[in-house]
Amino acid sequence: MAKKILFIDRDGTLIIEPVSGNIDSWDKLQFYPHVFKYMNLIAAEFDYELIMVSNQDGLGTQYFPYSNFQPIHDFVINAFENEDVHFSAVYIDPSFKEDKSPNRKPRIGMVKQYMNNPDYDLENSFVIGDRITDVQFAKNLGCKALWLLHTPGKGLTEITDTEDVLRATALALETKAWKEIYEFLKNENSK
Ligand SMILES: [Mg+2]
Repeated sequence: MAKKILFIDRDGTLIIEPVSGNIDSWDKLQFYPHVFKYMNLIAAEFDYELIMVSNQDGLGTQYFPYSNFQPIHDFVINAFENEDVHFSAVYIDPSFKEDKSPNRKPRIGMVKQYMNNPDYDLENSFVIGDRITDVQFAKNLGCKALWLLHTPGKGLTEITDTEDVLRATALALETKAWKEIYEFLKNENSK
């Protein structure tokens, strides 16, 4: 049977996004409330492949060196592993918005291999993210978005559809709580 996927954003979704800038020091690391509890249930109860997809603006530049990113990122991945949440792949785009990289969400360069691929069921897959660009990313992929509204108003300059069109065509749930994401998926999987 074709695999369903949850494409999961990192900052603003699994961990809290700082008011400005990147998560480049330990004092900026804070997990999203109840994310471990519900990601653990999602991983245990449903049959989704978990794939992390994250934009990290300027990663590898002087402005955001890998040495400020990698230890914290590894800690995040390990923290989820310890709760039996295993990401089968992690895709990080290091470009800036201005670069217009084909790999930067909402563009789908990093995850093309999952599209038009009989091994994957994108129609029944979801993107979980906190920005309107994650909703656009879902639309570009041919799946639906579960929108964790922790960072409203960001990414509006990077979408190619209007917010209204995205809401009408690609949004399955809008919430501030991981509990509701879990309950949505539970309902989805009991159909
Ligand atoms: Mg985000």
